Amino acid sequence: MSGDTTSDRSSMGAFNDLLSQGNARQSAYLAASSNAETFPSGAKKLIDDIATGLDAALPDDSLGTLVEKAAKDPDVFEVCTLNALSLLSARRGLWQEAESFARLAEARNQTDLWAQRLLEAAREKRADPVLEVDAWLESRFCPEPFERMMTQPSGAVHFCPARWQPMPLGHLSDDPDTLWNAPAAKAIRKSVLDGSFSCCSRHLCPQIRERRLPSRADVLAGNSGAAEPTDRHRRLLEAGDTHVKQPPRRVSLAHDPTTNTSCPSRGIEIIALGREASDRLDHAVIARYTRFLTPVESVTLGEVGEPFASRHMMNFLKIYCREKSRRRDLHLHSNGLLPGEDVWNRLNLWQHVSSVHVHLGPSMTHSSCPRASAQLKRMLPNLHFLGHLARLKLIDELVLTLPISRETVTEIPDFVRMARHLGASRIRLTQPERCEDEQDICDPAHPDHEALTSLLGQPLLQAADIDITDLADLPSTPALEVT
Ligand code: SF4
Repeated sequence: MSGDTTSDRSSMGAFNDLLSQGNARQSAYLAASSNAETFPSGAKKLIDDIATGLDAALPDDSLGTLVEKAAKDPDVFEVCTLNALSLLSARRGLWQEAESFARLAEARNQTDLWAQRLLEAAREKRADPVLEVDAWLESRFCPEPFERMMTQPSGAVHFCPARWQPMPLGHLSDDPDTLWNAPAAKAIRKSVLDGSFSCCSRHLCPQIRERRLPSRADVLAGNSGAAEPTDRHRRLLEAGDTHVKQPPRRVSLAHDPTTNTSCPSRGIEIIALGREASDRLDHAVIARYTRFLTPVESVTLGEVGEPFASRHMMNFLKIYCREKSRRRDLHLHSNGLLPGEDVWNRLNLWQHVSSVHVHLGPSMTHSSCPRASAQLKRMLPNLHFLGHLARLKLIDELVLTLPISRETVTEIPDFVRMARHLGASRIRLTQPERCEDEQDICDPAHPDHEALTSLLGQPLLQAADIDITDLADLPSTPALEVT
């Protein structure tokens, strides 16, 4: 790729043309990557074609130079071209280059399933690219696409969080009954039933990453160990049907990203939907989903955003509680700043709520953030109220969650004592979804990681009300019984 002879310059021109042609296929690649009915073959064919075109133009020693170029200027190559370069490198046994290209592709789009696969394949030195985890998945089962549905801030509707399974079933504006058995829904179920799990992220779905899925043999024998009704799972697997007559058991409404906390030092900003956008959501969602949710066992709000700060979610709750019989089917996630007695009365939430999950956000646990203590002061009366509801059994569960980082680790004992005093049924210590390296104390390579593992072994945290399942892969974390 260096030199300045006429022939070098013309081959460089031809090579640049090939790269441009590869990049030009990015829109088609994106469409193929989100189409559950054709994935993975549709997207793979595009990558294959680009790799084949580049093969003749690229000598082996040029791939390392291209890695440097792509690292220096990430916009030069589209994800499909980076994936094609990774595939090409793997076919030539250039594992380091294959891994670098795939890593760069994944950095451009974290949910790109082909980038994830190629990255893993390069690490396992496989040109096919079939992974070790694929063999494990062949004998596994996941009930989620037969039981769960969730709306997303993008307006798309999925079975699982979009990061775990990027293929949507459709859009919020579609009829949810139709979406439940839409062609994409059937294709995803088929991929689970045939053991390929082709629409699921090997990197981001915790059920796969932590090898938690039950084996088919156990499900068929009724020994899956799942808390869910195993008989239903056995019947699903035996029937092998991609059309599911029963409605979902669990629905999560996570389409409104409205938040009411900010922390400028961390780049966390308040998100507020305008009146028009909120009215549009009311129009698209409330009537349709209130009807659709009638037979659903569990309805979760607030896995994204803060429902009590959202005009749309408050409207939804008001109408839902007015029109539905009281059956404790709501599971509400909140940062605790707003759900007090006045809100409970205003929305008439009494006997509609099964559980409340209060998550202390990063802005509340950031000791140097001036807003943190004011926010904690504001939420305490609400926490007292919610704890009171839990003690009187007016809700089934109050769960308080603290994300663990270097900043919050010293606060764990006080947090646990406070949560118990308030009446929390369960205290969760979790790994934050996003965490800068210097804060990521859950990483065994972090210099303060040992302090965390020894803290987790203390008697205060050795109790049934402490849930550290998300931290279970910490090497010296004691195995706890979690109820
Ligand atoms: S394996 Fe993960 S991503 Fe796939 S259906 Fe199950 S929970 Fe969802």
